[in-house]
Amino acid sequence: PGQSGVLRIERLEVTYGRTVRALRGVGLTVAGGSVVALLGANGAGKSTLLRAVSGTLRLHGGAVTGGTVRYDGRVLDGADPVTAVRSGVVQVPEGRRVFGGMSVEENLRAGRLGLAGGLRRGRGSDAAGARAARERVYGLFPRLAERSGQRAGLLSGGEQQMLAIGRALMAAPRLLLLDEPSLGLAPMMVERIAEVVRDIHAQGTSVLLVEQNAAMALALADYAYVLEVGEVRLEGPAGELARTDEVSRLYLGEA
Ligand code: ATP
Repeated sequence: PGQSGVLRIERLEVTYGRTVRALRGVGLTVAGGSVVALLGANGAGKSTLLRAVSGTLRLHGGAVTGGTVRYDGRVLDGADPVTAVRSGVVQVPEGRRVFGGMSVEENLRAGRLGLAGGLRRGRGSDAAGARAARERVYGLFPRLAERSGQRAGLLSGGEQQMLAIGRALMAAPRLLLLDEPSLGLAPMMVERIAEVVRDIHAQGTSVLLVEQNAAMALALADYAYVLEVGEVRLEGPAGELARTDEVSRLYLGEA
């Protein structure tokens, strides 16, 4: 309620190696309980921003070189995924990287790793928490429940994306970071992903959504940002942004 669950990014600068300045002073806020879309061309820095929030930046050779990321007042530094997960922030990486040789159920269980120690924050016992999370996931994705014993590598692309999202939900995030969930999926499956994002939001989880499919993202979001070479080019309520000439021309494919 109120100000809880706010992601606040201020003047964020991220560099890969010594020379690639991927983010150049980005400000972005995700209010608790909202869906925010992050749009922009390839290489604009969208994935980089998600990594800075989820603490996976260092895994990719990047580092925060300026500015701050705060979730609920707590500082996240881009290099510590465990702190992010325990704070309630979880990323679904681009390209639905599920563990192909493991079963659906085992993939979901992996989503609980890194959570221990979060128990003191009132999640209840781990077994009860895991059970509740699994029920939520299977409720959202009945298809995964039907295939719980099957190897993840045998699922369709869309089902693997569902599993990647489900695995992230196992950590009971309050803020879910989604990196291009519709990429490479058939239109019907894209529509299904959109429904899932709506359901997840309706269940009280905030979402920061990176998408190439701007029409889908703007339809789902309350607020949106457009990144361009590491800077915020445009921002505003999603409905208003969709009506600007620039966004409709560049991202919605309208003349
Ligand atoms: P895409 O949709 O192509 O993933 P994006 O908007 O997510 O684009 P980023 O992947 O964040 O953009 O990339 C931002 C900039 O940082 C680009 O110039 C990219 O080449 C560079 N970059 C991204 N990841 C790395 C990395 N691991 N090492 C070096 N440079 C990187």
